[in-house]
Amino acid sequence: MDELHHECGVAAIYHLYSSSPSGLAPLAGADHVSRLMPRMLLDMQNRGQLAAGMTTYNPRREQIIDTFKQVGPVIEAFRYNHKAKHESIMREYAGRAAIGHVRYATCGSEDRSYAQPFERHHGCKWKWFSFAFNGQLANFTDLRAELLALADYHLVRETDTEIIMHYISHELRGDERPDLAQVFRNLSQKFDGAYNLVFMNAMGDMVVLRDPKGFRPLCYAQEGPLFAAASESVPLTNLGFREVRSLEPGEMIVIQDNQIRIERFAAREKPKHCFFEWIYFANVASTLDERSVYLSRAALGKELARQERQLGKVPLDEDTIIVPVPDTGKAAADAMAYELGVQSVEWRIRNRYVGRTCIEGTNNRADRARLKYTPLREVLAGKRVLLIEDTIVRCTTLRSLLNEVRERGGAREVHVRVACPPIVAPCFYGIDMSTVRELFAPRFMHGERPTVEEQQAMAKEIGADSLLYLPLEAIARCIGLDPDRLCRACVTGNYPTPTGSQLYQLALRTRNSETNGRTYEVPVANGVGVKG
Ligand code: SF4
Repeated sequence: MDELHHECGVAAIYHLYSSSPSGLAPLAGADHVSRLMPRMLLDMQNRGQLAAGMTTYNPRREQIIDTFKQVGPVIEAFRYNHKAKHESIMREYAGRAAIGHVRYATCGSEDRSYAQPFERHHGCKWKWFSFAFNGQLANFTDLRAELLALADYHLVRETDTEIIMHYISHELRGDERPDLAQVFRNLSQKFDGAYNLVFMNAMGDMVVLRDPKGFRPLCYAQEGPLFAAASESVPLTNLGFREVRSLEPGEMIVIQDNQIRIERFAAREKPKHCFFEWIYFANVASTLDERSVYLSRAALGKELARQERQLGKVPLDEDTIIVPVPDTGKAAADAMAYELGVQSVEWRIRNRYVGRTCIEGTNNRADRARLKYTPLREVLAGKRVLLIEDTIVRCTTLRSLLNEVRERGGAREVHVRVACPPIVAPCFYGIDMSTVRELFAPRFMHGERPTVEEQQAMAKEIGADSLLYLPLEAIARCIGLDPDRLCRACVTGNYPTPTGSQLYQLALRTRNSETNGRTYEVPVANGVGVKG
C-alpha cells in the first residue's frame, strides 16, 4: 500500500563536553557529531521524502545555530551523490549538537520554505532558536485564528509549524530567561493533537519532547557523553547505541549546562499511541514503546491465517499462493503463509534503476507501475492468489495491483485479505487522510463493522473475487498493548481529543459537499470551522 504517506520524522544528537569523547562520535571528533544527523535521517526516510534538513550548534561560529534544508529525499538534499559537495555541507554546518527533520506534507505546500527545522533568529541567544516537529495540531485553525486576532500578527504559510514557532516565541517574550519546561508546559495547555518536537537555542540548550498522548513514537539513547533521539529506534541502533528507550508521553528531555534531565511537562494521562505506526508507517526493524514492528506485523499475519482457516472459503492446496502487497505487507504475508502451509512468493520484480525520474510516456499510475515492476507470469498464471494488503485507505493502488495480478500475471482468482479493520474515519493527528469522502470503506458500510455482503460488494467494485478485513480486536492483540493505550480513531470514529471529535463531526457533515481540501484547513470564517 503506497497511497498513504508518512507523517515526518524528527531527530536530535548532542555530544556533551567531556574529557573523553564517545566511541560512537564520528572520526572528525565531538565537534562534528552533526555529521551523524544525515545518516539518522536516512534511516527514517520511510517517514517522509519531500524534504530534509538540520540545524546545528557551534558556539565558535558566527551563526551559532545555523540551518541547512533542501527539498528531496535525504540522499539528494545532503548531496550524498557528490562527495565534495556533501563534505562541504558537513564542514560548513559542523557542530556538537544538531536537530533534524524529514518531511512529508500533511498541510502546506511542497517548497523549501516549508522544510524543517524552522529557525527564528534573534539577537538574544536564548530567544534565537530552531525546532522541528512531527505530527499535526488538530486545533491548528483555532490557534491560527487566535494569533491573527492579536494585533499586528501576519502569517505567511499554511502550516502548523509556523503557528508553533510563533507560540514558542510568544512564550520567550520579556527580559527573563524562562524555564524551558515551563514554556512547553504552557504550550501543552493550548495544543491539541500530535506534536513530538526537537528544539535547540543559541545557548546550546536542547529539548526533545513527546506530546501528552504519545501519538507518535519517540526513542532516545545515551552512551557516555553522546545523547541521541529519533522518531524511531532504527537510527539509534544503527549508530551503535545498545540500549534504546521510548520517551513517556508528556515527558521532555532537557539538555542544559552540560547536563541531561527528563522532566514531565504535562499531567500523566492514558497514552494513545497510533496503531498505524506498527501496522504500516514505522520501519519494520524498529521497536516502538517496547513493541517490535516486525513481530506485530507477523502476528497480524497469524490472525489472518486463523480467520482463513475458520472461514474455509479458499482451498489451501498447491494451486493457492500468498502474495504480499510490497513492501509493508510482507511480514504479515510470510507469517500467514507459514501458518497455512502455503507458499508466500515473490511475484513482481522491481526495476531498481528507475528511481524518481520522470520518463516520457508515463502519464498515469498504470504506466508508472509498468515501468517500475514486472509481474512474474510464471508464478501467477492459473493460481488462486491470496493478496495480502496491510490496509485500504482510498484503494487507488490496490485496484492497479489487482489488474497486474490478474491481467498481466494471469491469476485465476484473486482474494484480498487486509491485515487491518476498515478505515472509516479521518486522521487529524498527522496522517494524510483528513476527509470521510476520500475513504474507500465508508461508501459500502452501514454499521460499525463490515458485513460479509458489504465486503463482497467492495470486492466486486475493485475486481477481486473476495475481500476480508481483520476485526478491530485483532489490532491490540497483535501489537500486544491494551486497546485503551492505542489511538484507533480512524477505525472506530472515537477520537481521543476534543478537537478530533469536533473535526470528525465536521467531516461527516461535509462528506457529500463539493468542498475541497483537508477538514482541519476549513477556515473558521466560512462558518464551518471548529472552535476547540
Ligand atoms: S486516527 Fe488513526 S492514523 Fe490517526 S493517529 Fe489515530 S490511529 Fe493513527
